Amino acid sequence: MDFTLPKEYQMLQRTLREFVESELAPVARDTDRLERQTDANIRKLGQMGMLGMPFPQKYGGAGAGELGYCLLMEEVSRVDSSTCTIIGAHIGIGAMTIYLDGNEEQKQKYLVPAARGEMLAAFALTEPGAGSDAASIRTTAVRKGDEYILNGSKIWITNGPTAGVLTVFAVTDKALGARGGVTAFLVEPTFEGFSVGKLYDKMGIRGSGTAEIIMQDCRVPKQNVLGKVGLGFVTAMKTLDGGRLGLGAGSLGGASAALDDLIAYAKRKLACGPHGRMEALAHQQYVQWAVADIAADLYALRQMVYHCAWLCDRGEKFSQQSAIVKMFGSDIAGRTIERVQQIMGQDGVMVGSNIERGMRDERISRIFEGTNEIQRTVIAGEIFKQVGIRL
Ligand SMILES: Cc1cc2nc3c(=O)[nH]c(=O)nc-3n(C[C@H](O)[C@H](O)[C@H](O)COP(=O)(O)OP(=O)(O)OC[C@H]3O[C@@H](n4cnc5c(N)ncnc54)[C@H](O)[C@@H]3O)c2cc1C
Repeated sequence: MDFTLPKEYQMLQRTLREFVESELAPVARDTDRLERQTDANIRKLGQMGMLGMPFPQKYGGAGAGELGYCLLMEEVSRVDSSTCTIIGAHIGIGAMTIYLDGNEEQKQKYLVPAARGEMLAAFALTEPGAGSDAASIRTTAVRKGDEYILNGSKIWITNGPTAGVLTVFAVTDKALGARGGVTAFLVEPTFEGFSVGKLYDKMGIRGSGTAEIIMQDCRVPKQNVLGKVGLGFVTAMKTLDGGRLGLGAGSLGGASAALDDLIAYAKRKLACGPHGRMEALAHQQYVQWAVADIAADLYALRQMVYHCAWLCDRGEKFSQQSAIVKMFGSDIAGRTIERVQQIMGQDGVMVGSNIERGMRDERISRIFEGTNEIQRTVIAGEIFKQVGIRL
């Protein structure tokens, strides 16, 4: 058993660290404040091959698999969760649907430019009456000649305002329900009947655009059916397995950055020690214990993320593990940031500080791509399936 990160991935990690420190960190505060990522940064991410990290080179990607994708999410999230969210929606759940279930023509037309960073991708499943209960979607798609006519709206779609291609899930046969009656479609924003609706004002990850998208008699060519008619829900669920792992990696990055902030603060900040002398906060036992607890959590989470990526890259099933990583990772990131903020006192609540932004950003990880309650349902479902009980 060898737990060492292969040399090429260590190199990738170093390159990513340098890139995010030099290019993303200096503008992360503005990305949050101005509520947008700069086009220049998205272009740079694309030019470096980061927006196609896991995909094979023949599809414009970097060929670094799920492990490379997790390293990307971890490193970007250390400095800027908004950009991490854009990347997660673009690679992890948007373009990934095309990679997993697209035909060759669709891969050339949509995956290649997405992987090269020439356009962003998005994943549109959630509807007003279908969040956790994604099987209840009501957007319809009716075949008419060589086209499908889509009607309905999707809400809270990351990259919704900017994507060049959106994977939209719609009901093609109501009687069959989610298993057999839902189909995935590749929709371009220029298609007749497509429009972007409301933009959401969020407490965190404010630099990532989230929108309602509306399809009113939206005409989608039949060649844009992704995968097989009726199997869209399967596409959605298997895509979310990888998406959740990526979010767990993002939580790892966010929590690691909070620990780094705490260590730097404990070194810099002076407090009155037991002998009445002013000394670094690091000498206080409550701070030492916090650092130790967080380090233990991060040690566990890092092994989980890399192990789950390894399972995925070996082609093994990893639904249970990715749900665990997402749930555990976002819980850990939340409690880490909260603890660091408490120790930093007034410095931790200052608007614009990393920890204040981290607090707002990280909260959402427990909600999107399946809330942590839904992850528990997935985990338990997988476990009971092994003993013959379908929940
Ligand atoms: C910032 C952001 C970005 C998003 N991006 C996308 C995107 O790109 N694409 C997309 O399709 N969607 C996206 N979403 C939607 C997201 O996936 C949903 O918000 C999420 O699935 C939860 O759905 P809901 O908000 O409707 O909550 P609800 O389903 O209404 O749940 C509310 C509460 O009830 C709990 N609950 C519900 N059902 C159960 C149950 N059976 N057992 C236990 N507890 C339960 C939930 O855990 C939660 O705590 C995004 C959301 C946010 C906030």
